[in-house]
Amino acid sequence: MNTFDSNPINDNENMFRGLLMEAADAVVLIDQTQSILLWNRAAEKLWGYSEQEVLGNNIDQFVPGESQKSYDGDIENNKQPGQNKINEKGREVSVETKTGKRVPISISTTKYQNTGTTYFMVTCKDLTQEKIEAEKYKNLVESASDLIYTCSSDGIFTYVNPMVPHLTGYSPEELIGSHFSILIREDHQEEAQELYSEQLNSITASSYYEFPMITKSGQEVWLGQHINLHKIQNNDVEFLAIARNINERKIAQKELIRSEEKYKDIIENMKLGLLEVDNNDIITNAYPRFCEITGYSRKELVGKKAVETLLSKDFVANMEKQNEDRKSGEQGVYETQILRKDGSQTWVLISGAPKYDIKGEVDGSIGIHLDITDRKEIEIELRKAKEIAEQSVLSRELFMANMSHEIRTPMNAIIGMSELLMNSSLDIRQHGYIEAIVSSADNLLIIINDILDFSKIEFGKLELENIPVNLPKLLYNIRTTIGLKAEESGLLLNCIIDEGIGVYKTDPVRLNQILINLMGNAIKFTHKGSVSMTCSIEKSFPNHDLIKFSVKDTGIGIETELLEHIFESFSQVDKSISRKYGGTGLGLAISRVLVEMMGGALEVESIVNEGTNFHFSLKLEKTEALPAPKAKPTLNHSLLKGTSVLLVEDQEINRFMAQTILENWECIVDVAVNGLEAIKMVETTDFDIILMDMQMPVMDGIEATTIIRNKLQLDVPIVALTANAIKGDNQKCFDAGMNDYLSKPFKQDDLCEKLLVNLELTEESTEENLTGVDLKEPTKNSESLRLPENENLVDLSMLIQNTNNNKDFMTSMIQIFIDEVPDQLETFEKSIRTKDFDNIDRLAHQMKPSIDHLANKSMQTLVRKIESAEQNAEHLHRDVSEFYEKLQDLTNQLKALN
Ligand code: ADP
Repeated sequence: MNTFDSNPINDNENMFRGLLMEAADAVVLIDQTQSILLWNRAAEKLWGYSEQEVLGNNIDQFVPGESQKSYDGDIENNKQPGQNKINEKGREVSVETKTGKRVPISISTTKYQNTGTTYFMVTCKDLTQEKIEAEKYKNLVESASDLIYTCSSDGIFTYVNPMVPHLTGYSPEELIGSHFSILIREDHQEEAQELYSEQLNSITASSYYEFPMITKSGQEVWLGQHINLHKIQNNDVEFLAIARNINERKIAQKELIRSEEKYKDIIENMKLGLLEVDNNDIITNAYPRFCEITGYSRKELVGKKAVETLLSKDFVANMEKQNEDRKSGEQGVYETQILRKDGSQTWVLISGAPKYDIKGEVDGSIGIHLDITDRKEIEIELRKAKEIAEQSVLSRELFMANMSHEIRTPMNAIIGMSELLMNSSLDIRQHGYIEAIVSSADNLLIIINDILDFSKIEFGKLELENIPVNLPKLLYNIRTTIGLKAEESGLLLNCIIDEGIGVYKTDPVRLNQILINLMGNAIKFTHKGSVSMTCSIEKSFPNHDLIKFSVKDTGIGIETELLEHIFESFSQVDKSISRKYGGTGLGLAISRVLVEMMGGALEVESIVNEGTNFHFSLKLEKTEALPAPKAKPTLNHSLLKGTSVLLVEDQEINRFMAQTILENWECIVDVAVNGLEAIKMVETTDFDIILMDMQMPVMDGIEATTIIRNKLQLDVPIVALTANAIKGDNQKCFDAGMNDYLSKPFKQDDLCEKLLVNLELTEESTEENLTGVDLKEPTKNSESLRLPENENLVDLSMLIQNTNNNKDFMTSMIQIFIDEVPDQLETFEKSIRTKDFDNIDRLAHQMKPSIDHLANKSMQTLVRKIESAEQNAEHLHRDVSEFYEKLQDLTNQLKALN
């Protein structure tokens, strides 16, 4: 037996043998007689025979049948001279193992020559594993639910998996050898052809294409097809295709597009313009209504950049921001102006939303455009109208301020001159005329004030104070003010105040205004019977009281249907009322608003010919804290004697009037007709005080004061004379450095008071302000009025001095006084009613010594004022009323002493 080992081989051959023995594939070395010389380990493993068992045997024993033939061929081929490799790639055959199992192998033979001897190395590769793998992939492909097929580079089917005939209806035989386009719907064939040619030419590894496939029976099925280029022998390529049935998705997509189109149609029909842009703001679609809005055709728009084509510069930034929002998936509604094709501008309201592709990624945005040009125009018109309206409110305010100024200036002259006249020697008839002028002027002033108040309410300029107010005192003062009118009409005046009512926080001026107005009306519209003002606690809380105020009369009453309009401005029951009773019809309207501002509601009940009851309730904060009483000077103008006054006033008549009053008080008066002149005068002369009109030509009061304070650095007191009651001039006066202001028209007493206060010439406080009085134990007078015993009226210093403190004598003097007072009061009352001034003077003269001995300085001053023949009717009445009340107080206080 010829073995490889038995041959004389050298060391190289030993190494060669060693390598062969360990090779991964089975290697069998044979000689030209096919006798086995070497059988390596892998061969032992493949066949199951050991080397020992096979050495010297013919290889034919191990490669049977068909396989053997192939093997023989190899040998034969190999015998051709110059050919070294016999079968490079290997031939697939199968062999039988020792156990009789057939194993697929790939067999190849290599010729090997050594020292003239030829050997053949037969290499066998076990293909069992490869076959299993191949089978597995084949199964996978064949059982796949996708269509898998291969095509040659010219598009001819070379393989189809079973799914292809299943879905297409064509048998594999029909397909293999045919061109792939037989499956593609005609209108897509060209496109597909182009696509795959391109893929082939550009050697693009893979592509995806969706197309409608037509089955043998003519049905349409949408396929989504991936195609990979696959290299085969000779550098040739084939198409490896995997296609999937996407029919359902396509139908759903079609449905979606259809419904989108439906909505787009609806939107279009709603006259909303639709525009679609991609992520680069390039217009991808423009719907007819949008084209209508912009004047462009669809063709003119598609492919253009939307921002550049449709927007003017001012709106670009906003649109770009909106586009960014869309990219991050945000929606937005905004207004913008767009440019139409003809260059005109139109306003649109855009509702923008992101647009998504099939994969759910934002691929642009869609904007719904509503043409709002008309609305915008209305908006612009409205804004203009609002500006005009605001302007007109301003002009009205200005008008009111001017009107107030224009009326108040001559009123100042009328009232002032009448006062001056009243104080000159007049006969009784002339006195009557002047009284009529004064009373008309007063009425006119009330009307002006009403109109101004009403305007302030309309402009929202009316502000309320909230300060401690002694309510009984406030009501008492109203009763005094209004008392004479009631008496003149022969009416009984009741003023009933609940015991527990004391000091509350409210606005005294406005509360006073409301009650005066209601009381004034009650007296005006009542011809017989009584007028009652009642103030009672309706409900008590820890820190507040609900106080009910009511003004009830037994007058003409108001008809039911007119009652509901009674609080409307300018409302009077009928025209004849205004002719008969006068008035503006503003009083109740103002009162109602004031009550409401204070947190209450003004209500009314009335029966014609029986009477009327106006009432309201206010929840007022209780307080004990009273501000320090502001000293109100006794109006003793003799204190002003020798005072140097600079009167700055442009109006001649007002200048004349003020100058006359001041000179009557023996003041030294210099006059200037405007601010500039005043400045020149103060530069050279020292004045005790300056009275400065606000509105003057050349230089007004504010400017002049600013110069006096800032440039000349003078601190001379300056009192403004202002006829402007609405503009908030008072604050302007203080801001400019003025010390005080006096509203025109003013009365002599007002002027006197301002001069005394600002020259600090006040004598003593009579504590007349409503807010500064301490409430002690109340007493009641005959008309149920509770008098506040706030002031100690008793002063016995003179009596003590004159009687050498003789207690008995003093007691009997006091008693005589007390006994006489009721008669004196009655005489006073009668004289007031009958306007018997002489009698009043006489009475005052008679009482003066007793008052001097028993009463304080304020009563002494008062009795002298009454006694003085210089008093005018109105002042006299006020002083007498005050004296009358104080006399009762004094008597009570003296009674308490005795
Ligand atoms: P006027 O200044 O005209 O009095 P008001 O607003 O105060 O304005 O009153 C409006 C109208 O209400 C009056 O003109 C009158 O017709 C009616 N009126 C007001 N108070 C009474 C009352 N106590 N009795 C009868 N009528 C009244």
